[in-house]
Amino acid sequence: MSQTWTLSLNTLKDAIPLSQYSVWVQPLKALESASTLSLLAPNNQVKDYINKHLKKQIKHAVAQHNKNLQIFIGVAPNVSSKPSAYKQHSTPLFEDYTFDNLVLGSANQMAYGATKQIAENIKGSPYNPFIIYGGSGLGKTHLMQAAGHLAKAQNPNLKVLYVPLMDFVRNITSSLRHNTIEDIKLFYQSADLLLVDDIHLIAGKEKSQEEFFHIFNFLFNGKKQIIFTCDQPPKNIKTLEERLKTRFSQGLNLHLTPPELEMRAAILLKKSQNEKINIHLTEDVALFIAAHITSNVRDLEGALLKLKAFVDFTKIGQTLISKEIIETALGDLIKPKINSVDINDIQKEVAKHYALTISDLSSKSRKQHTVLARQMAIYICHELSSLSLNKIGKQFGNRDHSTVIHAIKKIKEKLLESTEIKNDYEIIKLKLAHL
Ligand code: ADP
Ligand code: MG
Repeated sequence: MSQTWTLSLNTLKDAIPLSQYSVWVQPLKALESASTLSLLAPNNQVKDYINKHLKKQIKHAVAQHNKNLQIFIGVAPNVSSKPSAYKQHSTPLFEDYTFDNLVLGSANQMAYGATKQIAENIKGSPYNPFIIYGGSGLGKTHLMQAAGHLAKAQNPNLKVLYVPLMDFVRNITSSLRHNTIEDIKLFYQSADLLLVDDIHLIAGKEKSQEEFFHIFNFLFNGKKQIIFTCDQPPKNIKTLEERLKTRFSQGLNLHLTPPELEMRAAILLKKSQNEKINIHLTEDVALFIAAHITSNVRDLEGALLKLKAFVDFTKIGQTLISKEIIETALGDLIKPKINSVDINDIQKEVAKHYALTISDLSSKSRKQHTVLARQMAIYICHELSSLSLNKIGKQFGNRDHSTVIHAIKKIKEKLLESTEIKNDYEIIKLKLAHL
């Protein structure tokens, strides 16, 4: 029960006739959050009567006890006939999606900073609405929920609602059937912080857009914070009503980009220590995986899980996770990237690394430095491309396949003997994986 409402009831009892009080006011159920007081009538008749005849007195009475509350008057959901529907209007936040569990890097620095600032200042943020957009698996949901956790930690009374967009659409659709649209709206409008995930999915859903527009305006006008995630800048969404686009673009729109190499490695290291994964990676090995899996964080997590399964099932020791083991464990995750490397790219990167030109690699020069670079390029082409020995030879000044075999053998030996050459090899591969 809301404390403000209990006090307000006493005030109202003295302010209005007892018959009015007991018939219309007493049956109201009150829900109080940091900034709103929702008064739920048992049916539409009571709601309409209150709106018409008693709203002013109620507002006045509540203001005497708490000036900061916005009042909503609606109908209580019919709990007995639809027991679970009301609860499903929003989804609890995932426990792990906190700021503490996010790795910070240049890809998310700005979005991270803005989200934190907004969450710390939920009532006075100038960034409303706030939209985090970017590709799949880059941490949009995580960041948005981190805002929810932080805002709630700062003020436990705050009403934080998290809604994946498709749940919203389903709720709207079912409420149209059950004639409960007003309750749904009331529910969302009671939020102090509304988090709507994957707002782009509202494209083309006209009825949902319309209802959303009203909820949005209500919250926005009541200075409630709204955060969206989206897979693209909202202004690019086709079949999104202009008035929604305009509203969205009035706020702060920030882009999450794929993490760069070092950040990917840092994410792998952090997640590998998580109790659910719990495998030991060296920095070197993390960089190696990160160099090959460049798409998004979700794929990095997939790789770690696969590696964990490999470690568990083969029972290799924790300390033994080497690059060779990674290649075996993650074979098909790593190979597609390698196969896509073009022979011209390899020649370009090798030439650049050794400060030579591409034509030096195909020339007849027998200078030691040039020979090493040529052999290295041939070795990497053999490793990364599916070309035959003959075809590789052709690309290096029409050399025959025995020269190619010789080059491969030479580099194989040198990789074992010389850390300097092994370093050359790894740097070039890293660059190729990063193209
Ligand atoms: P999106 O909503 O953009 O598709 P998610 O928020 O679901 O992506 O993130 C996918 C996974 O990657 C989640 O498990 C999330 O915890 C993780 N993740 C994303 N970014 C980071 C990061 N910077 N640090 C740690 N984990 C991250
Ligand atoms: Mg998401």
